[in-house]
Amino acid sequence: MSEVDEVKQKIDIVEVIGQHVKLTKSGRNFRALCPFHSEKAPSFYVFPERQSWHCFAACNTGGDVFSFIMKQQGIEFGEALRTLAEQTGVTLPSRVRPDARKDERERLHQVNEAAATYFHDQLLNSPGATKAREYLLGRGFTAETVAAFQLGYGPDRWEALKQHLAERGYSEKELVDAGLLVESDDDKTRDRFRNRLMFPIHDARGRTTGFGARVLDDSLPKYTNSPQTLVFDKSGTLYAVHLAAPAIRKQDRAILVEGYMDVITAHQNDFRNVIASMGTSVTERQVTTLKRLTRNITPALDADAAGKEAMLRCVDYENTLDTEVQVMLLPGGRDPDDVIRQDPDVWKDLIENAVPVLDYALDMTTAGLDTSTARDQARVIREFLPILARMKDIVRRDHYIRELEIRTGTRYNVIEAALKDHMAASRPGKAVRKSNAKPTAPLLPSPIEEECLSLLLQHPELKDESEELLSDYFQNSQNREIYIAWQQSADIELLKERLDPSMWEQVDALVSRSLVPGRLEQKRSRLVLRLKKEHLREVKTLEAAALEEARTGGTDIDVTQLSQEGIEANIQLQEVFRQEARANRSARDESGRVP
Ligand SMILES: [Zn+2]
Repeated sequence: MSEVDEVKQKIDIVEVIGQHVKLTKSGRNFRALCPFHSEKAPSFYVFPERQSWHCFAACNTGGDVFSFIMKQQGIEFGEALRTLAEQTGVTLPSRVRPDARKDERERLHQVNEAAATYFHDQLLNSPGATKAREYLLGRGFTAETVAAFQLGYGPDRWEALKQHLAERGYSEKELVDAGLLVESDDDKTRDRFRNRLMFPIHDARGRTTGFGARVLDDSLPKYTNSPQTLVFDKSGTLYAVHLAAPAIRKQDRAILVEGYMDVITAHQNDFRNVIASMGTSVTERQVTTLKRLTRNITPALDADAAGKEAMLRCVDYENTLDTEVQVMLLPGGRDPDDVIRQDPDVWKDLIENAVPVLDYALDMTTAGLDTSTARDQARVIREFLPILARMKDIVRRDHYIRELEIRTGTRYNVIEAALKDHMAASRPGKAVRKSNAKPTAPLLPSPIEEECLSLLLQHPELKDESEELLSDYFQNSQNREIYIAWQQSADIELLKERLDPSMWEQVDALVSRSLVPGRLEQKRSRLVLRLKKEHLREVKTLEAAALEEARTGGTDIDVTQLSQEGIEANIQLQEVFRQEARANRSARDESGRVP
C-alpha cells in the first residue's frame, strides 16, 4: 500500500473537514456552508461512506480529503499529504523533501525582482508613465513612499518586459512560470501587465513573489494579481508584511486592512504596523505568518458591512492565536485610505477604541431588539450560539455566557444547555479511525483512471487531442494531480519535477504498466468516455443523496437548482451513451470489413 493510500485509510474525512468547517449532521451525511464560496444556505456536503465532499452550488466541484485540504489551504498535493500524514502518524520516506524545487523558487524570486526593478524605473523615467505618475501625485504619495513600496508602471506595449528580461538572460519559460507573461491561443507569449500601475508583493523575508496591478482608467477589473505560481500564493500572502514587520513587533499589534492603497497611505502617515490581506477574508496561513510577529491582530472593519461571517472568522483567529481579537470599526462605508488622508488623528482614535470582537458581535446581535421580551431573548441566544460554539477557550466562553445572561435575563444553565444541544447537533464523528475498525471507504482503486493515465503517459502523441478529458473526471487526487502535471509537461522527467516526490512511485508504476498495443486513438476515447460516465454517475449519486435530504427537510438547499443539475447530468450521460454506441459500431464495422 502506498503512503497516500495509508494516510487515506487512517483518516476520516468528516473529522478533517470538521476541523475547518462547521458540519451539521444530515441523514447519513453532513452539510455546511461552503467554505469556498459565500452562501447563506448550506450546499456543501460531506459523504462519510464515500469519504468525499461536494459543493452543489457555485463551486460545483468536489473530491477526496486531499483535494479539500489543498483547496482550503491553497497548498500543493505534497504539502497536503505531509499535513495529513503527520496527523495520522504515517511516516513518509525521506525522499519527500519539502524544498525539492528550491533552485526553481530562487530563480522565480530573481525574475520577479528584476521585473519590479524594471517597472519601477519605467514609472520614474518613461514618458509613457505620465498618467501613472499623475495618479500617484493625486493620491498624495511622496517620492520616498513610491521608492519604499517600489511602485512601478507596466508599459502599454505587448513585449516590453519580455524583451527587457530576455536581454538579461531570463528565458521565456521562466517568465511564464513567474506569471509575468501570458500565453495566447497561437502559442505566442506577451506581457501580462500592460498599462498598469504595479505593486510588487513580497514575502516576510522581503523576496519579491508577485504583483498587484491597477488599471489607470475606469475599466474593470480595477485590480488584478499575479496568478498562482511556485512562489506566489494569494492565500498565504500579506501585502507589505516585510515593511511592517519591525513596527508590528515593536507595537505588538498588526492592523489588518484590505487594499494596497490603504496600506501605503497608512505607512506614509507613520502608521507602519498596517498590512493587507489579499482579499476579504484572512486565511489560517496568513494568521500563522502573523503569529510569528504578534498575537494582537486588529482587523479594520467597515461598521456597516461587517457581518456575522466576519465575526465568525475573527473567532477563528482567536482560536489560532489563542488570544482575544479586537476590531477597529470604520465609520460606515469609508475605507482606511479615506479616513487617514482626511485626518490621521481619527485613525488613531479608532485604534484606541478598538473593541473585543465578541463584545461587538454581542452588541450587533442585540441591536434593535427588545430583550425584555421572550421572543427577542431567544433570538439573541440563537444568533449568538454559533459564535459561542466556535470558541475554544472555555474561560472566555464562560465570560460570554454570563454576559448573555445579563443582557437577556436568561439563566446561565439554560444558555449552557442550549449551547450543549447546539454543539451536539453539529459535532461530526470521532477523529482518526480506530485501527481495528475497517475503513468504510474504498481505497479508491481506480483501474480506469490508471489505465487511462498509463496510456497518456506512455503515448505523448495523444496529448493534443485530450482536452475533452477534464481533470475533474479523476476522483483520486493523486491521479488528478498527475494528469494536470502531464498536461503541462513535455516529458516524464519534467512531469516528475512538477510533482511532489511522494507521487513518483505512482508515476513509475503508470509508465511501466503493460498495455495492449495498437488502436491508441480508440482506446483513448473509450477510456475518456468511461471516466466521464463514472464522473457523471458519481455527481448524480451525490446529488440524489443531497436531494433526498433536501426533500425530507432540514436543509434550505435549492431543490429546483439541484434537480436541474441532476437533469443536466442525465442529458450528458445520454450523450456519453450515444458516443459509446457509435464508437462500438465503428469498431465492429472495422473488424468485420473484408480487406
Ligand atoms: Zn461552494
